[in-house]
Amino acid sequence: MRVAVSGGGGFLGSHLCEALLRRGDAVVCIDDFSTGKPENIAHLYEFPEFEFLLADVCEDVEVPDRLDAVAHLASPASPPDYLRRPLQTLAVGSRGTENMLRLAQRHGARFLLASTSEVYGDPLIHPQTEEYWGNVNPVGPRSVYDEAKRFAEAVSLAYHRSHGVDVGIVRIFNTYGPRMRPHDGRVVSSFITQALAGEPLTVYRDGKQTRSFCYVDDLIRGIVAMLDSSATGPVNLGNPEERTVAELADLVLELTGSMSEVEYHPLPTDDPTRRRPVITRAQEHLGWDPEVTVEEGLRRTVAWFRARPEDITVGAAAIRGGRQDTVPVGQQDTVPVG
Ligand code: NAD
Ligand code: UDP
Repeated sequence: MRVAVSGGGGFLGSHLCEALLRRGDAVVCIDDFSTGKPENIAHLYEFPEFEFLLADVCEDVEVPDRLDAVAHLASPASPPDYLRRPLQTLAVGSRGTENMLRLAQRHGARFLLASTSEVYGDPLIHPQTEEYWGNVNPVGPRSVYDEAKRFAEAVSLAYHRSHGVDVGIVRIFNTYGPRMRPHDGRVVSSFITQALAGEPLTVYRDGKQTRSFCYVDDLIRGIVAMLDSSATGPVNLGNPEERTVAELADLVLELTGSMSEVEYHPLPTDDPTRRRPVITRAQEHLGWDPEVTVEEGLRRTVAWFRARPEDITVGAAAIRGGRQDTVPVGQQDTVPVG
């Protein structure tokens, strides 16, 4: 296949590009490096079938020659990233998604949308099946991400129903692993960076909120299976191993051997209290199951961060300066959405 991967310079996108290249596909990676970085894909230039296109997908993007699939992953994903870029996040979820759908339509290509468990908001049913419509605050600070992704799902299905575009939607639950930015503000990267720097681990509220953490290799296998299938979805992709944030902090301290303290901070607005996917659809439609335990995945991620000591000090300082409940008004973007 020849696959365009928007957001291919980011954490998940770079792993997806690599997985596709390793099995012999050709990849056109599209990114504007707003939250991704060139280092993530530097090693991919050794594949003759790898191409990079520097572009903002909110603008019209054309890819010459044939495309068999378009995987649309471009979007800020960590809460501090999208809270700092509210308008860009809405734009990439709406206009960016429609541009990528039109690209797929022009090429007669399959379109894969990287949606999110955030479409369930602060869920009133637990665990979450794909039938659940969610509980999202449409006017809260997180709405720029949640509603953009809900719109992205809606516009994808509209292109499917009205124009016959072959669409597949995956709803990704918290995924972690190598190539996360040390200061992206997500819980796994923050705790590991803080533990390795000997800084306090910043647990929000009492740490009793839960997430289900999926290791990146498992997730990418699921995305590739979805690309290869004809399923429309939405399909949940996540590891149902649910942990409290406090348990995660303990585990990171144990795996790093760190003597860091745990420090408690206020919970960001509308932070969901619990999250666990039902993955029956993924098992039945894609034959997919996560294989890497949280302990093993964290061990691999800690080893990766440990090998980058220069990033740890800088990362820990940046987290201190930019926690998500402290993004001041006026430090956000002002790019118009429309
Ligand atoms: P990331 O920030 O590392 O990657 C996103 C990439 O998109 C970056 O390289 C960024 O530069 C690029 N990008 C953003 N806006 C763009 C634009 N307008 N034009 C071109 N490129 C643009 O985040 P990630 O964790 O790799 O997430 C990838 C996708 O998966 C996102 O769509 C995110 O919503 C989704 N997702 C991720 C998770 C997770 O746990 N990592 C969970 C749910 C959903
Ligand atoms: N969290 C935390 N400390 C941090 C970063 C996050 O306690 O330094 C909590 C956050 O409040 C949330 C959970 O960890 O309950 C997961 O946060 P993350 O930003 O990784 O993902 P999301 O909220 O998007 O699921």
